Amino acid sequence: MKKVHNFTAGPCVLPQVAIDNAIEALKDFKGTGIPVISISHRTKEWDAVMDECRALWRELLNIPEDYEILFLGGGASMGFLYVAMNFLENKAAYLETGVWAKKALKEAKALGNAYAVASSADTVFNYIPKGYEIPTDVDYFHITTNNTIYGTEIHEDMDSPVPLIADMSSDIMSRPVDVTKYAMIYGGAQKNVGPAGVTFFIVKKDLLGKVSRYIPTMLDLRTHVDGLSMYNTPPVFPIFVMNETLKWLKGLGGVEVMYKMNKEKAEILYAEIDRNPLFKGTAAKEDRSLMNVCFVMAEGYENLQDEFFAFAKERGMTGIKGHRSVGGFRASIYNACPKESVEALVACMQEFEQLHK
Ligand SMILES: *Cc1c(COP(=O)(O)O)cnc(C)c1O
Repeated sequence: MKKVHNFTAGPCVLPQVAIDNAIEALKDFKGTGIPVISISHRTKEWDAVMDECRALWRELLNIPEDYEILFLGGGASMGFLYVAMNFLENKAAYLETGVWAKKALKEAKALGNAYAVASSADTVFNYIPKGYEIPTDVDYFHITTNNTIYGTEIHEDMDSPVPLIADMSSDIMSRPVDVTKYAMIYGGAQKNVGPAGVTFFIVKKDLLGKVSRYIPTMLDLRTHVDGLSMYNTPPVFPIFVMNETLKWLKGLGGVEVMYKMNKEKAEILYAEIDRNPLFKGTAAKEDRSLMNVCFVMAEGYENLQDEFFAFAKERGMTGIKGHRSVGGFRASIYNACPKESVEALVACMQEFEQLHK
């Protein structure tokens, strides 16, 4: 197979061992003689995967017993609706830090009174708003901890006077998180914890059932708490791969170790962006994401953008094109992105500099 360095934003790079084990399970799931995609989800062999996966989440993120962990379909985008349906009674506040945050807010607006407390839309979301106050008269405050498209990240678990709900699609399991500060954490698996097709929810159970609206069965999180994520057929194969991904993560030493590795990788790449006169970073330095590194050609070198894409592609770099709404480059360096890939990209930038400075 061709050697590539995969920097795509999601679906994205996954640990090789998770992929290898998935391939094995597609042939024979746990010695049953049945491929994992043909096994009934109402079997003890499948139950064991669900139990193991929930236990891994609980252990890796230190999730207390009064929270349930759900694995559903629909993606984070359906999660936006789950949030509003299950938590919005009178009013909700959102931090508008990008397109995903806006989409989350849109769903809440359709169901009630929801608004942005602060926004960084004025400068194409290249920073995290600060100095705002979280209102106390709202049902919840919603944040997007990592803004995948713009490369900004909220690096700390904030204190909130109202239930805090976070879309952590693109930085879940990249660092330790104090789950007790959140009413709910949710996201699509396809950036850090598995393939597309499964959406995770970590929800504080006693906060459910407080809204007066009728919630359609499938959109009611209580349905899935009661059904242990198997009210209907769960996304069996994505959950299997997620479980393998988490086993890999645990084997490396868990989220503390992962966090250290992620910081190291991000530092290497940002250092090169800051040093290399041909490139410049786009996100405010204090808000730079450890997961998505966004940069452009520096002033005077803008005309070299296409040439750098081609140059990098020739050297095996793939997926470094910035999101269509911002342009430039974006290297997504999620958990499973090896340090060697980051070093290869840096070497590529240095080589390119030699050609052009
Ligand atoms: C990718 C992404 C989403 C959208 O996820 P889907 O599973 O495709 O709906 C939402 N929020 C963030 C922060 C993302 O990175």
